[in-house]
Amino acid sequence: MPLVVLDPGHGGANPGAVYLGRQEKDDALKLALAVGEILERRGVDVYYTRTDDRYESPVQKALEGNAVGADYFVSLHRNASAYPNQYSGVETLVYSAYGEAARLAARIGGRLAQVGFEDLGIRPQPSLAVLNRTKMPAVLVEVGFLNTDADNQIFDQRFEEVAQAVADGILETVGAV
Ligand SMILES: [Zn+2]
Repeated sequence: MPLVVLDPGHGGANPGAVYLGRQEKDDALKLALAVGEILERRGVDVYYTRTDDRYESPVQKALEGNAVGADYFVSLHRNASAYPNQYSGVETLVYSAYGEAARLAARIGGRLAQVGFEDLGIRPQPSLAVLNRTKMPAVLVEVGFLNTDADNQIFDQRFEEVAQAVADGILETVGAV
């Protein structure tokens, strides 16, 4: 069975983006748990870097993924811009625009676009620890902007579809579909 790390971004004293009382760490955890449930139902083993509200550094999380011998690493986040409602859409970050991680990122982004998010595409971000310290293909998904109302509407009102989209992009990649 493939082993996928699901990494809900931030946690504990590190809320990530905050907008009108909404915190990125909470959205990331809720989504990771929902995605993981779908993956596990489909026979994929899941390792969560957290299942509650606690903080670990991105380096620690990357090393955990290596230690458990994961086949893929998916970090879940929400984006933020300088001003509310400035941008919208899903962006996927990868170490390199080529290879298995980029294919996984494209699949997740494409599935999320089908749910209604704008697809902002793939962006290489080699400086991130979860992307450069992980030994397996790793992606960081920014699931819409936390300070954009339209993106929050999709996230909240179509939450099950959003979780299914992320899971489908992973399942397609691990060959479990
Ligand atoms: Zn984040």
